[in-house]
Amino acid sequence: MTTTRTGLPLFVLGKGSDPHSERGVDCPGELPPASDPALVERARKAKAALGDRLFVLGHHYQRDEVIQFADVTGDSFKLAREAAARPHAEYIVFCGVHFMAESADILTADSQKVVLPDMAAGCSMADMATFDQVEECWEVLEDAGIADRVVPITYMNSSADIKAFCGRNGGAVCTSSNARRALSWAFERGEKVLFLPDQHLGRNTAVLELGLSLDDCVVYNPHRPNGGLTDQQLRDAKMILWRGHCSVHGRFTAECVDEVRQRIPGVNVLVHPECRHEVVVKADYVGSTEYIIKTLREAPAGSSWAVGTELNLVKRLAQQFPDKDVSFLDRTICYCSTMNRIDLPHLVMALESLAAGQVVNQITVDADTAHWARVALDRMLALP
Ligand code: SF4
Repeated sequence: MTTTRTGLPLFVLGKGSDPHSERGVDCPGELPPASDPALVERARKAKAALGDRLFVLGHHYQRDEVIQFADVTGDSFKLAREAAARPHAEYIVFCGVHFMAESADILTADSQKVVLPDMAAGCSMADMATFDQVEECWEVLEDAGIADRVVPITYMNSSADIKAFCGRNGGAVCTSSNARRALSWAFERGEKVLFLPDQHLGRNTAVLELGLSLDDCVVYNPHRPNGGLTDQQLRDAKMILWRGHCSVHGRFTAECVDEVRQRIPGVNVLVHPECRHEVVVKADYVGSTEYIIKTLREAPAGSSWAVGTELNLVKRLAQQFPDKDVSFLDRTICYCSTMNRIDLPHLVMALESLAAGQVVNQITVDADTAHWARVALDRMLALP
């Protein structure tokens, strides 16, 4: 293990694991080579052998080679709910990333086992807010005399620890579809919101949907003393945004939008709210993954679209809607590297192990964390 200047522990791939973060890279089973021509058949056979005991979830950003085996596809929240709606499935294989499998474990029965085919499939955004950092931030807010007026809201893309922190401190979870409602709910209960871990979703929602100004927002940097902010800045702010971002959506720039408008006259620019504020304000349409899919499905034939989200999904949408011209917003490739870690060899390893009676890569959330995370998730579910 090596330690960076910021104190974040980094593991060499395949060595060690850190239960306190999204990292953990051991592969307990026998990983077949990616070149094995029988992989598709092996996955099919293992899935058939498990029958109804198995339910496979596939996130929209997964590779085609994996998504073909999904019983249902969706965004992280939809998938967790789908898992909860299958109480008879003994094994939930989650083709997505670590925090999603944690949410599925929280929302499913104790008897159900949630499996992540590759434990290295973390999320760089979720990793940007660790429990210790958030606890330290809360102490900073207490020292500034404002913690009792702050409601913490965390995006679904965060570890179970952070969701539990929000549950314990009167806060809630949100998704990109209900962030506006979650913020309105929070502002009815407090004067300020601590928004974790995606600064862009927090800022875009506060400014574009709630009418706050950019000056109402400050960015708390967990790697700087006092978050890099003065007590007065914290007292004046309405939105305290955690300094986290999605490494995929954060890559799109305002120049990408200008460039695509020149390249494709009349193009509609459709982006996810995890994109930077300057990209979102230049776009024509902004919304969650499910919104992006719906917008393209309902778009008139012959219309042109430049889509700012993960590339696996954009490529699939282009194939799914051949009557529309669907292209990627950036000229450079932009897959989610951690989502892509779930490949066919890892899926085969997981399914064959389960079929042989060996549970590998099980994701479990301890009872206390699960309880408080569930409190925060239930507050989200009860949003008006
Ligand atoms: S696309 Fe972004 S938010 Fe989603 S898993 Fe990858 S890094 Fe995390």
